Amino acid sequence: MLAIDLTGKRALVAGVADDQGFGFAIAKALAEAGATVCVGTWPPAMKIFTTMLQRGKMNASLTLSSGEKLAFEKIYPLDADYDTLADATDELRESRRYRDYDDFSIDGVARAMATDFGEPCLDIVVHSLANGPEVKKPLLETSRAGYLAAVGVSTYSFTSMVQRFGPLLRPGGSFLALTYMASERVVPGYGGGMSSAKAALESDTRLLAYEAGRRWGHRVNVLSAGALASRAASAIGFIADMIDYTSRNAPLPEPISADDVGHTAAFLCSPLAAAITGTCVYVDKGFHAMGVAVDREAAGGK
Ligand code: NAD
Repeated sequence: MLAIDLTGKRALVAGVADDQGFGFAIAKALAEAGATVCVGTWPPAMKIFTTMLQRGKMNASLTLSSGEKLAFEKIYPLDADYDTLADATDELRESRRYRDYDDFSIDGVARAMATDFGEPCLDIVVHSLANGPEVKKPLLETSRAGYLAAVGVSTYSFTSMVQRFGPLLRPGGSFLALTYMASERVVPGYGGGMSSAKAALESDTRLLAYEAGRRWGHRVNVLSAGALASRAASAIGFIADMIDYTSRNAPLPEPISADDVGHTAAFLCSPLAAAITGTCVYVDKGFHAMGVAVDREAAGGK
């Protein structure tokens, strides 16, 4: 039987703070395949996430097909806006939501993992996070600061992670980021520079695949997911419409589930995908392939 087997592998999934989004589903799929999973959680979301875990509020979603409960090996506070702790202002470091954490930068998490598990200690790194402070604004009204913030958190952070985690990955390591089709087609409402951030993320994936492949033998891919009502997507405001529109116009009309993405991510990060790097894999029920909407009356729903 050809199975996805990640036994003995360790993964870090960055961007998990509840059980509703892609990061959680990816973490769970990696665990289903046998990997040990650590997660990186945005400091402002850390308390509520760990409290919900402690109180058993996520027990149902944490239950694996074996009946065992997924236990994260470690939860690292991670703010992907900061490459090193020195990049964060004193004001932020002393603020209520950050002061309990030591080094929440990307570099800090890489160094903490090297201390916790030795070097090399990782096989898989997943970047499942994004933030665009002006995402609700049309590009025509987006400020330079908002645009650059979107690209800094949502895009550069992936390059920063490949730089810093690359040396920690064992041979044959795999990086994966999450993107959205608004990078290449117009999705009104996905503003604030977020579409540009995703386009840059996809471009960076190709170059990082070349550089990390030649330097370490690691793979770097990006997964373009269909619309899902995660916490982040719901905050943008039009996700229900996008899910509905996608269902009416995609080749496969059922909405995607987070598990669809989790399963593909587990494959891409597994030895079965050893020859796949520098690519974008769509997990969107084929929606990206459509050139015209078919839910118009004129098309007769065909
Ligand atoms: P989500 O809310 O589950 O995940 C986003 C995570 O990013 C959250 O855990 C949040 O705390 C974290 N985050 C925000 N700013 C951060 C920072 N500065 N440092 C560290 N973490 C930070 O939502 P999701 O929709 O599952 O998003 C995961 C990825 O999937 C994102 O890259 C998103 O753009 C992408 N994606 C989402 C959709 C969708 O429709 N939901 C579609 C395609 C791609």
